[in-house]
Amino acid sequence: MKASLLLQPAASCYNRSMDYIVFDLEWNQCPYGKEREVRTLPFEIIEIGAVKLNKDREITDKFYRVICPSVYPKLHFRTREIVGKTEEELQKGVPFTEAVSDFFAWAGQDVMFATWGGVDLIELQRNMKYYQLLHLLKGPLHFYDVQKLFAISYEDMKSRRALEYGIDFLKLEKNMEFHQALSDAWYTAEIFQKIDLDIIYAYDSIDVYQNPKTKQEEIHAVYNGYTKFVSREFLTKEDALEDKEVISTHCCLCGKAMKKKIRWFSVGAKNYYCIANCTEHGYMKGKIRMKKTDEGRFFVVKTIKVSSEAEADLIRQRKEQQTLRRRAKMRKIKKDC
Ligand SMILES: [Zn+2]
Repeated sequence: MKASLLLQPAASCYNRSMDYIVFDLEWNQCPYGKEREVRTLPFEIIEIGAVKLNKDREITDKFYRVICPSVYPKLHFRTREIVGKTEEELQKGVPFTEAVSDFFAWAGQDVMFATWGGVDLIELQRNMKYYQLLHLLKGPLHFYDVQKLFAISYEDMKSRRALEYGIDFLKLEKNMEFHQALSDAWYTAEIFQKIDLDIIYAYDSIDVYQNPKTKQEEIHAVYNGYTKFVSREFLTKEDALEDKEVISTHCCLCGKAMKKKIRWFSVGAKNYYCIANCTEHGYMKGKIRMKKTDEGRFFVVKTIKVSSEAEADLIRQRKEQQTLRRRAKMRKIKKDC
């Protein structure tokens, strides 16, 4: 008898009286093209804007710094267009190390971050890593992706809209320029204020830029209709796919180990799918996304989702198509030999 997994809602452990820090970043990139960029810092942060909200989501404070760039002092033409800043204005800014230290001192301990999409948290940490400041923010991080919360609240869960679309949709006043860190943070906070608390509590996001390193740090999160597992690191993809926990399939509703109807199979280089069946809750779709760290190690993000019979059929067809393609390829290789 396989053990069942203890299911606990992802956000159930949070302290509901903590402040929210809604932030936004603007960044520049190499003005001379990809070939000449600094590989460890493709995007250099030039602005940090943030607003603090109390537990009742009332705005209580704001934070803003312009950062004097040290890697790409010249602006990429797209940055100049979008952010509307000049090199001279940036020269008057403070160094990143100072801005980011001020930011965390201002934010305080035990806060929950919220951003429009997940990219800002990644770039913040990448910049911090470049300046050897990553210890200021311990990951993996639970945070609120307001872009996702907007989609869950008002659209089809999968859509990802621009910030301005969200403001228009909710008929909020547009009295500030978009694409400036403080005003975008402010707009994001205004949308965040409109989202139902039940949705906020049920759908936090997990940033894995600082991925789990040990078995103890692995993440098991439960959401409404799906579960998410983030594994520790492995040296190779194959090692990851041999791990029992990685390939296991537990029902996302009751936690019981399920029998696979279609075993894990790969689609492209990074994704794997399977179909399993819970005797009580029916078909579930499993997806593994293989992730590579900056250091070339591997970890997986696995989701198990309630699935309809039609979806299960679609996965079955995908696997059959893939098997046919592989056979055809093998035949060609044999012929060419
Ligand atoms: Zn079940």
